[in-house]
Amino acid sequence: MKKVKIIETAFRDAHQSLLATRMRTRDMLPIAEEMDKVGFFSLEVWGGATFDSCIRYLNEDPWERLVQLKDVIKKTPLQMLLRGQNLVGYKHYPDDIVRKFVEKSYENGVDVFRIFDALNDIRNMEMAIKVAKEQGAHVQATISYTVSPYHTIEKYVDFAHELENLGCDSITIKDMAGLISPQDTYELIKTLKEKTDLLINLHCHCTSGMSPISYYVACEAGVDLLDTAISPLAWGASQPPTESIVAALKGTPYDTGLDLKLLNHIKKYFEEIRKKYSSIIDPIAEKVDTDVLIYQIPGGMLSNFVSQLKNQNALDRYEDVLEEVPKVRKDLGYPPLVTPTSQIVGIQAVMNVLGEERYKNVSKEVKDYIKGFYGRPPAPINQEVAHKIIGDDETITVRPADLLKPELEKFRKEGEEMDIIKKEEDVLTYALYPAVAPKFLRGEVVEEPLKPPEENTQIEEPTGLPTEYTVDVDGEVFDVKITPVGYMEIEPAGDKTPNGPVEGGVTSNMQGMILKLKVNEGDQVNEGDVLAVLEAMKMENDIHAPQSGTVDKIFIEEGETVNAGDTLMVVK
Ligand code: MN
Repeated sequence: MKKVKIIETAFRDAHQSLLATRMRTRDMLPIAEEMDKVGFFSLEVWGGATFDSCIRYLNEDPWERLVQLKDVIKKTPLQMLLRGQNLVGYKHYPDDIVRKFVEKSYENGVDVFRIFDALNDIRNMEMAIKVAKEQGAHVQATISYTVSPYHTIEKYVDFAHELENLGCDSITIKDMAGLISPQDTYELIKTLKEKTDLLINLHCHCTSGMSPISYYVACEAGVDLLDTAISPLAWGASQPPTESIVAALKGTPYDTGLDLKLLNHIKKYFEEIRKKYSSIIDPIAEKVDTDVLIYQIPGGMLSNFVSQLKNQNALDRYEDVLEEVPKVRKDLGYPPLVTPTSQIVGIQAVMNVLGEERYKNVSKEVKDYIKGFYGRPPAPINQEVAHKIIGDDETITVRPADLLKPELEKFRKEGEEMDIIKKEEDVLTYALYPAVAPKFLRGEVVEEPLKPPEENTQIEEPTGLPTEYTVDVDGEVFDVKITPVGYMEIEPAGDKTPNGPVEGGVTSNMQGMILKLKVNEGDQVNEGDVLAVLEAMKMENDIHAPQSGTVDKIFIEEGETVNAGDTLMVVK
């Protein structure tokens, strides 16, 4: 009799998807022992955005979280999500950092490594897979699932074979947008089971509403593992509910054998947790959003578009942006929309719609993507678009990390000079987050306060007052300031940049932080020169001179946050 096993995501993906990755370790520990009794295949507890969130918002050492959970959870394997060569960050790291990170993760308690690459470029996964195998860990390689004319079952099976040849123990189909239909689920899993000897897991988000049906069909096709979240942290942008899936499979050939009474006891604990964190639940993340069925855009991206466009007083262009996303994705060779490609494509679509010309303004990331620095796109890039963006600049065909020099010792030396290294893991924390880590390692990060439940911020406040809250873009969490339409004009208080149009004024086309100022007052510039670099949603965007002339006045400093429409400087 075939039993399906369950991977519980409450401590990683579920709270990343619904609670902005804000669950504290002290809220996990009291129930961890009970969860260990259930008999899950594994508990996903680490990786993804949890690392970033711990040091940025919670004043928690992510390594200590892992050790503390491992102390209590003695039977059930602990699982982490690793972004291949990006580890738990947003760019490729050199091999020496990847090696040390995987070794230390294993040493501190990770038993199962789920490893993915946004482009399904196996070269970006190889190093992490190799090191995890060397440690004796279970390696769960991942297929980032997407729908396009190039993503055929044959291609997915070929990819699975390559992963099997690397010694991976299981395969996850990562359906981050909840796009996989029951029919496609059946065909893909059936074929993977026939053509490989690997355990197969299905990982869906409920965004489109189809996932529980796909889960059942997956069982019929022979799936071995399913990702679920305990019900108070399920549905919407999260996984299907654990108890419901367990109950649905009871008495079938796929019976999980898990005890519903024990799960119900655990559920009661998480009901209180949900209440405790209710002030940060993004209402958009809670819903089923069938727009994904039309536009194939992950739910988190949709909420982000709304906030980006509201900020720019351009909410009327929402549909245009939705229609632009598939076009940009096609131009870029159909990347699956998952971190970081979801942000790369999303920002470009907004810029294409709001700019006077498609691909006139392009982020550094899009340029790097076209040059091959993220890896091989699934399909050919539109050459006309590529030429417009990078001209005759060279593209690379080697594994991107082959171009990176070892950096671990450099970070160790720097960290020691700054006196922030107390243990080996601190070198990694610093290497991955050089901007945030020093503050955290010095003990200067203050835990973000958790608002009481009654202060839950609803998106459409009847008063229309501006609100700041976090949005989840395909699992990545961003702080976004929502400015209701019509409010921009009366918001200048305390802002030293001038309001309204200024002759020769250079304005920001989105909200973000000034990363670099490339000119000084009095400099001569030519039309199109880069004046400043604006960071928005972790993307770097060049701000160009609209005309040739002299930089007359600069209103901004590096590190300053600006709003869409702010005048940054004057070129006369
Ligand atoms: Mn996920």
